[in-house]
Amino acid sequence: MTDTPVPDVTLNNGSTIPQLGIGVFQVPPEDTAKIVATALDVGYRHIDTAALYDNEEGVGQGVRDSGLARDDVFVTTKLGNPDQGAERGLAAFERSLQLLGMDYVDLYLIHWPLPGKDLYVETWQTMEKLYADGRARAIGVSNFQPNHLRRLQAEATVLPAVNQVELHPTFTQAPLREVHQQMGIATQAWAPIGQGAELDNATVGEIAERVGRTPAQVIVRWHLQIGNIVFPKSVTPARIEENFAVFDFELDDSDVASISALDAGNRTGPDPDQFN
Ligand code: NAD
Repeated sequence: MTDTPVPDVTLNNGSTIPQLGIGVFQVPPEDTAKIVATALDVGYRHIDTAALYDNEEGVGQGVRDSGLARDDVFVTTKLGNPDQGAERGLAAFERSLQLLGMDYVDLYLIHWPLPGKDLYVETWQTMEKLYADGRARAIGVSNFQPNHLRRLQAEATVLPAVNQVELHPTFTQAPLREVHQQMGIATQAWAPIGQGAELDNATVGEIAERVGRTPAQVIVRWHLQIGNIVFPKSVTPARIEENFAVFDFELDDSDVASISALDAGNRTGPDPDQFN
């Protein structure tokens, strides 16, 4: 990897992931290549996409346009909900690779457990094959609850490297993070700034003013200091830069604690136990 201020997190299979990246949920397909290339120019080396975002092609194009070597960029994509199951899962992965124009992904995730469909164990077995043949360098899950993780632990061979879940100051997921820690699964935080809603929080604003940073920078810093892997989304170049400029300051322990204390169980996305 090239010179970067972003620390790596070592996953349970020994591979490493840059702790800060950029997410491209809701980035229009036609804008994606440009935004990805902009982010890579700023210094990001980790892109989080998904089949369901309909912009994998733009992600691949942006990586190629950046002029960086494929190995210098960490790319995550996700297996979409309609593609669970052994055969569909394999076909979905082939399609993602083709759209990305890549011969491997760094991390492949099951996007949602869909417990009512009861296909995630079978889907995971396909993920294990993709991992064994090296086309997914690491495999993980998203929106899994402790019971879904424990079922994989009991029935599967490979433990997920990460679980990507909704997580922001008013929804800190402390019990789930504890389970991750016990199982050796890294926590990835989606909607890290609550899709923008947490930027208006008074406590965050007070800390931001005191440390001379923006609310977004304070929240990203909080994620990094509590150990989350994080990829805020923006399509605005100035914000893409702002969200990356978080490696020349630190929050003190009391500020980290007061942000963690904002937890209000404020889930904004679907409940993974109910969503099918
Ligand atoms: P986010 O919390 O990153 O918020 C994004 C929004 O915040 C932007 O649209 C922008 O309006 C605003 N914003 C960003 N930076 C800002 C700044 N510096 N100042 C002011 N406003 C700013 O929300 P997200 O996009 O939902 O989550 C991030 C990424 O997580 C996604 O892009 C995607 O990659 C991933 N994600 C995964 C799942 C999943 O089910 N696995 C679900 C949602 C998102």
